[in-house]
Amino acid sequence: MRINLTELFSVDGKEKSYKVNIEMDSFQAFGDTCEVISKEPVTLHIQNVGSGKLLMEGKTFITLSIPCSRCLEPVDVPVELEISQELDIRQAGEEDTENMEEQPYVDGYYLDVDQLIGNELLLNLPMKVLCKDDCRGICNQCGINLNQGTCSCERGSPDPRMSIIQDIFQQFKEV
Ligand SMILES: [Zn+2]
Ligand SMILES: [Zn+2]
Repeated sequence: MRINLTELFSVDGKEKSYKVNIEMDSFQAFGDTCEVISKEPVTLHIQNVGSGKLLMEGKTFITLSIPCSRCLEPVDVPVELEISQELDIRQAGEEDTENMEEQPYVDGYYLDVDQLIGNELLLNLPMKVLCKDDCRGICNQCGINLNQGTCSCERGSPDPRMSIIQDIFQQFKEV
């Protein structure tokens, strides 16, 4: 959802509170599409603090399903977001790129709440997600989840040079 900030920007001291539903159902992270399992509406309080600046404070709670980085099983990851941002539209208009923070969620006088939440998620997601600390991952040869079973594959990666030689032999046979 987009919030029109025109009124807030035009009156010094003006403040407004919002409760906004998050529209996104999935989120791109860890090179994957992560499903949004649950989401609370964002509570936002925006105040004009003068000099063309808005102070925006908000909160929400989102749970994403993120694949374990070892075994790829989906893990529910709850993320609490505390938003505290200063919006400066006047600065954006002057294209003062030197000290302007990236605010891709502000488009003209509109605030794109989903973009804002996406931005905050990127900053607040854990670097790496594990289903459990001692996750054993998957076998890189047969693909079995080693938390759930064992296999008799040789550990250690196969030598790629050997498989090239095998390919060459295969070609000779076919001729
Ligand atoms: Zn795992
Ligand atoms: Zn295996």
